[in-house]
Amino acid sequence: MLQIKGILAFYIKQLKNVLLDRNKNKWKLIRLRVENLTSLAMAGPTRRTKVKDMSAEVVDSNPYSRLMALQRMGIVENYERIRDFSVAIVGIGGVGSVAAEMLTRCGIGRLLLYDYDTVELANMNRLFFRPEQVGMTKTDAAVQTLSEINPDVVLESFTLNITTVQGFETFVASLENKSFRQEKEGTGVDLVLSCVDNYEARMVVNQACNELNQTWMESGVSEDAVSGHIQLLIPGETACFACAPPLVVASGVDERTLKREGVCAASLPTTMGYNALKDFFPTMAMKPNPQCSNGACLERQLFNLGHRVVDDCDANVINTQSSDALPEGLVHELPNADVYEQQQQQQWKEESVDDLEDLKRQLEALNAP
Ligand SMILES: [Zn+2]
Repeated sequence: MLQIKGILAFYIKQLKNVLLDRNKNKWKLIRLRVENLTSLAMAGPTRRTKVKDMSAEVVDSNPYSRLMALQRMGIVENYERIRDFSVAIVGIGGVGSVAAEMLTRCGIGRLLLYDYDTVELANMNRLFFRPEQVGMTKTDAAVQTLSEINPDVVLESFTLNITTVQGFETFVASLENKSFRQEKEGTGVDLVLSCVDNYEARMVVNQACNELNQTWMESGVSEDAVSGHIQLLIPGETACFACAPPLVVASGVDERTLKREGVCAASLPTTMGYNALKDFFPTMAMKPNPQCSNGACLERQLFNLGHRVVDDCDANVINTQSSDALPEGLVHELPNADVYEQQQQQQWKEESVDDLEDLKRQLEALNAP
């Protein structure tokens, strides 16, 4: 009996030792893991410090060496001027996030980002948002990502809906704000990129840019994501978004009724420009429509026409003076370039004055109570 007790005590002791050893190893492993995770958390993501001047030095540690190479190759005269420019991006979706990231990597001076939405897991099809950003506003998540890529860019996040009265006012005021570069003429931004997915928002960007005389670019992607279009809009010089409205806008149909069940976006821009499947990219120039329904667009057209007529009058005086007389005995059989140009300008001026009168009448009709 004593023998059995002794054997049992021996085994229990052995078992205790084994368990203790195992636990010791387990605790050791857990401690190492905690230490490892703590050091990782303490270190945080590797962030570079801000760079005061862009350097052209070709070293691996220079974030601008590949971009400044464009200057060395003679492609751009002064690459660092990019830091003077401000770009506003409306809509941080498929197009807006890529545009924002590329401009950030290029070292643009300032980016203004507009969106009213929050990040969802459904947005992970893009190269931009991350799963841990789910629930953040898209503009805040964008600022987080972009500031990690390039801390030199001044980033401004505007979580707002530009199609509301309050949102529109904030949008316009933010474009007008010149605190980044006081001496800049016009508004506080150099370019507005419309990267939205609906016509209502496009018409709002159009309205703001016509009112502010702001150059902007419109973009759109088809539902199946294999074609898209880009349009440059210079108020009064090229067609605005209302000059040649898409059928859905012109007919006043509620675009929300166009959305198909289960399809994520009503991305049905006016003209599909680029077709990725056929690698086909047609381009065309569109003049502003003198019958445009947008009053601010007509005002810009009127202003530009007035300027052109005055410029042409000046040009005619110079041309008349500069026309050289032929040496004695020689005659022109055909009108020379100067005369031909004068005839063309005279004809164009007459048309311009007609257009001017027409625009004035339309503007008065629009402003009439
Ligand atoms: Zn227009």
